[in-house]
Amino acid sequence: MDVLFDYLEKKGTLLFDGSMGTQLMLRGLNQGEIPDIWNIKKPEVVQAIFKNYFTAGSDLVQTATFRANPIALKTQNLENLVKKINESSASLLKDIRPEGKLIVGDIGPSGLFFPPVGNADFNELVSSFKQQAKVLAPFIDAFHLETFSDIQEMKTAIEGVKKITNKPIIASMTYKRTPKGFFTIMGNSLSQNIIELLELKVSVIGANCTLGSADFIELFKDMRTDSETVPLSVKPNAGQPSLQNGKLIYKQSPEEFSKDINSILNLNNGPLIIGGCCGTKPDHIKLLRQLINQKMSG
Ligand SMILES: [Zn+2]
Repeated sequence: MDVLFDYLEKKGTLLFDGSMGTQLMLRGLNQGEIPDIWNIKKPEVVQAIFKNYFTAGSDLVQTATFRANPIALKTQNLENLVKKINESSASLLKDIRPEGKLIVGDIGPSGLFFPPVGNADFNELVSSFKQQAKVLAPFIDAFHLETFSDIQEMKTAIEGVKKITNKPIIASMTYKRTPKGFFTIMGNSLSQNIIELLELKVSVIGANCTLGSADFIELFKDMRTDSETVPLSVKPNAGQPSLQNGKLIYKQSPEEFSKDINSILNLNNGPLIIGGCCGTKPDHIKLLRQLINQKMSG
């Protein structure tokens, strides 16, 4: 049973969470340190952040496991911790899940590229994502495959998950805005990606990161045009970052962010999941909650 689909049908618009990385940096995560390790190093901190998003009004909160696939962990010599990190994050989240809310297993890219850019192997990637999915699956209601810039790699992640479970998949690619439309850095167009993701029968087609909320208004228009009434998910960044003392800082206020999200909600005529990526905080999510509640009661 697709619990995510049931929720979307009942509520129309679901509220996702905001950034985990930004919250961890505020609490002392070092530049270059892999956030996922905090699931076992500082579990109480990660759990408090999950809780803050539920308190802010999120319907769905995702695990802090963006880089916890074996290939990405191997770059930090942490590949022996795949099970421990994913299991810890998922159970931290499950333990505080309020009734009626959903929890989502987060999976990010491997960091490898296919030839000619790199030497990634299709089956090796499938197996890596499968290992991560296997640990997360028993705890969660849905998967979020996010920030992928190569549709080929997205396919390996979808295949990896599907080898383990038929739980719903939210498949989010990340886009740049160009004069010719929206493309990933690997050159995949939005419309082509949507065609391929529809063929792969993912539950929700998504976009996240890279672009701020203002650019997401246009991106969303194109997504809705190409996908018709398929459920969509959008998680924009809190504007464009600026560099301060070697750190990327996102300064967009929750008010500005939610103004753009309001435009997206006004354009929308189908099932939608909406939240935030880099730079978004519980305060951003809180305002989105008010916005969605207003729409639902109006
Ligand atoms: Zn992001």
